[in-house]
Amino acid sequence: MNQLDKIVALCKRRGFVYQSAEIYGGLNGVYDFGPLGTLLKKNIREAWTQSIFTTQQPILFLEGSLLGAHAMWEASGHTQNFSDPLVDCTNCKRRFRADDIDLEKVCSVCGKKAWTDVRQFQLMFQTQVGAATDSSSIAYLRPETAQSIFVQFKNVMSTNRVKIPFGIAQTGKAFRNEITPKQFLFRMREFEQMEMEWFCKPDQVDEFFPLWVKARENFYTHLGIIKDKIMLREHGKGELSHYSARTTDIEYEFPFGWKELEGIADRGNFDLTQHSKHSGKDLAVYDDETKQSYIPHVVECSVGVDRLFLTLLCDAYTEDTIGGEERTVLKFSPKIAPIKAAFLPLIKKLSEPMSKIYKDIAAKGYMVEFDESGSVGKRYRRQDEIGTPLCFTYDFESVEDNCVTVRNRDTTKQERISIEKIEEYIQASLSQ
Ligand code: ATP
Repeated sequence: MNQLDKIVALCKRRGFVYQSAEIYGGLNGVYDFGPLGTLLKKNIREAWTQSIFTTQQPILFLEGSLLGAHAMWEASGHTQNFSDPLVDCTNCKRRFRADDIDLEKVCSVCGKKAWTDVRQFQLMFQTQVGAATDSSSIAYLRPETAQSIFVQFKNVMSTNRVKIPFGIAQTGKAFRNEITPKQFLFRMREFEQMEMEWFCKPDQVDEFFPLWVKARENFYTHLGIIKDKIMLREHGKGELSHYSARTTDIEYEFPFGWKELEGIADRGNFDLTQHSKHSGKDLAVYDDETKQSYIPHVVECSVGVDRLFLTLLCDAYTEDTIGGEERTVLKFSPKIAPIKAAFLPLIKKLSEPMSKIYKDIAAKGYMVEFDESGSVGKRYRRQDEIGTPLCFTYDFESVEDNCVTVRNRDTTKQERISIEKIEEYIQASLSQ
């Protein structure tokens, strides 16, 4: 098994991620998140939200709709440009993204060379809104969260009395009918984005663009991601999206190679200009200093929750041997670990006092677990596999000395601490 297959298996075994509609054969490129996956996603969103407040200027949040009007996606350029090149193998009927394969070579599935012409495939999911089925009822599931930010920009600005520069941020689902969803959570058809659009004066872009690139890079090292596995890559001219004047990707070295984790793009005033033109509404702002109106420019930071989820899993996944026994451990930073600590009575007879300690800590708002079943060794293995940084064990001596044993996930070293110090110990681990 390669590393990605092992991660997929662990995710299912421990309740991080399940294939959507699995009992019906699954829906390709669509996943459900189990209890631990849900916690991890929540921690990722929270860490991102905190990280986005890096400047003194305001950042406001928006929750846009998932369904978007045809006119909006027409204005944004998505109905015309949001497509990938598609090619079919006429022999085995498999579909490929033309830029993923070498059309000079044979099909990797059937070994024949029988390609159709390359054609553009629209990635947006189209639907009908209301009972009418004419073209006026066409709507799309959003392929990115950004457009609702542009469309609501004026409303947000005027109802919150903010001045340029400022940001509007959003986390939420996006949908793309990817030709070949693959590599688990890397390329999905339904996924979640975390995007921040930074509105500034045209001549401020050169100042803010590098600031945001740096801030976003810091976010990943702050999450504990191995520095050598992160790199910045500037897009070449031919690679830029239709809206972008400049893009820097933050790439991660996945088990399947270096790939985009986050994109930071200078979108210029493309989006606001397009929406002004198409809607007939003036989206310019007035500059008190120059006494002139202008259309703000935008620096965008965009990352997928699920892609970051996969990054964190790949980065944390470790196999090692402790005392002659092999184990799998997720070395998550305590900040994003789904469970912060586990409370384990040595044997079931000791469950009552340990469960009381556990409840006290849980009541203080820590995401912790109590586990009394099976041998302690087995329980440690489970906590290692789900990335719990600390395990507290209550044994026969605890009754006498009011202490527990605390075991460190990464070193497996154990020390004895007073029960009173448990919360402090967890706090110290979270602020690492
Ligand atoms: P790619 O080149 O990988 O298709 P993109 O350049 O089209 O990505 P963007 O439109 O810049 O991606 O999307 C911003 C972020 O959203 C990406 O950096 C990625 O983290 C996430 N993302 C995009 N598409 C997907 C997807 N199909 N599944 C999971 N995450 C995605």
